Amino acid sequence: MRHAETIIIGGGPAGSSCAWKLRQRGHDVLILDKAEFPRLKLCAGWITTKVMQDLQFSQDDYPHPILKLQIHSHIKGLPFSLRGLPTPGDNYSIRRVEFDHWLLHRSDAETIQHTVKTIRRDGDLYIVDDQFSCRNLVGAGGTSCPIRRNFFPDNRRKFRQVVTLEHEFEYPDRADICHLYFRHYGAKAYAWYFPKADGFVNIGLGGKANAYKMSEKNIHQHFKSFLFDLVEQGLLDRQTAENFHSTGHPYYLYSDHGEVKKDRIYLIGDAAGLATVDLGEGIGPAIESALMAADEILGSPGYMKNAVTQFSTAGLAQRLARRFIAPKAVQ
Ligand SMILES: Cc1cc2nc3c(=O)[nH]c(=O)nc-3n(C[C@H](O)[C@H](O)[C@H](O)COP(=O)(O)OP(=O)(O)OC[C@H]3O[C@@H](n4cnc5c(N)ncnc54)[C@H](O)[C@@H]3O)c2cc1C
Repeated sequence: MRHAETIIIGGGPAGSSCAWKLRQRGHDVLILDKAEFPRLKLCAGWITTKVMQDLQFSQDDYPHPILKLQIHSHIKGLPFSLRGLPTPGDNYSIRRVEFDHWLLHRSDAETIQHTVKTIRRDGDLYIVDDQFSCRNLVGAGGTSCPIRRNFFPDNRRKFRQVVTLEHEFEYPDRADICHLYFRHYGAKAYAWYFPKADGFVNIGLGGKANAYKMSEKNIHQHFKSFLFDLVEQGLLDRQTAENFHSTGHPYYLYSDHGEVKKDRIYLIGDAAGLATVDLGEGIGPAIESALMAADEILGSPGYMKNAVTQFSTAGLAQRLARRFIAPKAVQ
């Protein structure tokens, strides 16, 4: 049986960031991931300045193309588009197939390709598939994480489920501007056109599953309308729109409900359902939760679900108030 002090299940941004922090302190850590990297991950690939700060890299250190985004937000009912996002710092696009592979390599952790099926406790140790043992177990397996299923079965809320459709492809004629469309294709949904630095573009749509269930049009019908609106706007050619092959993947937005740790087991990233409620940002919270869990494994407790940053309009109002109105009066 292969033993490691900490086993992390899943080598996405959450798992690799946790491993990176642990390895920096010489900790014995093993990552198990069912996929062979580089692997496809459905995602628009939007990251923020905070992600780069948390992982201590800059645009110059990143070895793959990265694009600083100019964003135009189109909100249904508003006759003009807004520039940028009400988030702190700059916004960038990366390709997940490159980003995740780089983070995993950078973590300096041993990684074994293995699909985890069973986990049991044996005294002080956790035994994974009767092949691996560890003292600390980290669940970073995304939406279908086996650790969440086994140890935290009730930790997320169905009404926070987001369903998506998207496709990323090489499209040299793509526009340089990132376009976001809020509430145009479902009441609780937004659609995106994310250009990448190297001539790729990611086009997708994500919205609350329960809102789509109650709507007259399903997500596929909305997505089709979106593609042909992009054709009308000159952002996509008709042939590409007609032959578009999108794929979907669900994930969960943050809810206060549920635990993220017990008995030296930690749930991080999408496994814990931490994506922000406003914009569905999942990479940032995955990394933040990973670093907090690593700190706790290294002896500094403090990982809690509600310690992970959630950007919200309430937060925005506070930030603006702090800056422009009464610096000392606002908490
Ligand atoms: C269409 C779409 C667009 C999105 N766009 C954005 C965006 O632009 N910006 C943003 O911040 N967030 C976005 N998100 C959310 C973001 O992709 C996730 O929040 C993020 O990937 C979470 O990282 P993670 O490491 O927790 O999980 P993942 O990246 O899903 O990694 C989980 C890993 O676990 C492995 N795994 C799963 N099960 C097992 C098992 N049984 N055994 C071994 N390994 C296993 C998988 O192979 C995978 O590599 C988007 C999500 C979707 C679906």
